[in-house]
Amino acid sequence: MQSVVETERYPMLEVHTKKIYDNVKYMVDLCNEKGIEIAGVVKGFNGLPKVVDQFVEAGCKYIADSRMDQIIRLKEYGIKSPMMLIRIPMFSEIEELVKYVDISLNSEKETLDRIEKECKKQNKHHKVILMFDLGDLREGVFEEDELIELAIYVEEKLQYVELGGIGTNLGCYGSIKPTKDNLGKLCDLAESIEEKINRSLEIISGGATSSIPLLLDGDMPNKINNLRIGEGVLLAKDLDEFWGYDMSSMHQDTFVLKAQVVEVKNKPTHPIGEIFIDAFGNSPTYEDKGIRKRALLAIGKQDFALDDKLIPKMEGVQIVGSSSDHLIIDIHDCKENIKLGDIVDFTMYYPPMLYLSGSNSVHKVYR
Ligand SMILES: *Cc1c(COP(=O)(O)O)cnc(C)c1O
Repeated sequence: MQSVVETERYPMLEVHTKKIYDNVKYMVDLCNEKGIEIAGVVKGFNGLPKVVDQFVEAGCKYIADSRMDQIIRLKEYGIKSPMMLIRIPMFSEIEELVKYVDISLNSEKETLDRIEKECKKQNKHHKVILMFDLGDLREGVFEEDELIELAIYVEEKLQYVELGGIGTNLGCYGSIKPTKDNLGKLCDLAESIEEKINRSLEIISGGATSSIPLLLDGDMPNKINNLRIGEGVLLAKDLDEFWGYDMSSMHQDTFVLKAQVVEVKNKPTHPIGEIFIDAFGNSPTYEDKGIRKRALLAIGKQDFALDDKLIPKMEGVQIVGSSSDHLIIDIHDCKENIKLGDIVDFTMYYPPMLYLSGSNSVHKVYR
């Protein structure tokens, strides 16, 4: 239980766990119906354990994170689901990888050899998904033959490292759209590997939230049986706004920022004096809209990084700008009279969720 005193500390990130549960459950059911298991990706909210509980309860087969410290914290908290590391492991974290992680994404033979050696030392097995780069140009083996060879190597030469399957990542660096064609290529590769090793692969991982449109359109290649989903169940905004899918069955107000007003004044909208650079070394332009009523909030870029990715909940509130510790909003057209000490609410896109959930100055409250 949250004490009254604690719930009144600001800035506050209100986390609506039941809504997140609903979103994850909806996605898990949608995918399971098509024979696809979900790895719930929790890096977007710094793996806050109480939110991860919702992912587990809603039926995610794996809990996936890019950061080892978050995975360790979740294991210590008591999450029992298999843990997946979705950033290619560093040499410096291989001991922890073998100790805490059940399955990881990989693309380098030397890393696999080091995992094998560490597994032997700890007398543990570790499963890997070999990543293939279909053109997004972030992680993954780039040549088809190299991937097939690497798969055979893991299957035949490594004792403790087990070949779990293959996977790909799209729409991250290169902004490449998952399609029937490029994911079809991943499935063809899986078949080639299966022929060579004489068994079927357990996991064919076809990407992240950006692969969901294929599923909704009925164009997902049959062989894909795993997706790694974060944004699509947390904020559910991308598919709705960038892809044009009706996501009204999902909640978008799962994370709400509440910030307190520390100043309310009428001020000019154009700075006075010689315009040089702002707090971050940029030279923005300022539109002169005359004298407007505005409020200053005690929250800043250090907490949310990007003010244009915050969405004011109250009608008439407009974001003017921000520095490390302050957010300026225009409240001139607000019907409600915003006063000193009032709390202003924002929903958000992915970047503020990422930063706010990790900020020590932001109090997390679970609803
Ligand atoms: C972040 C990440 C995901 C999840 O992406 P979403 O867009 O949040 O669904 C999946 N796979 C990998 C490798 C990632 O790094």
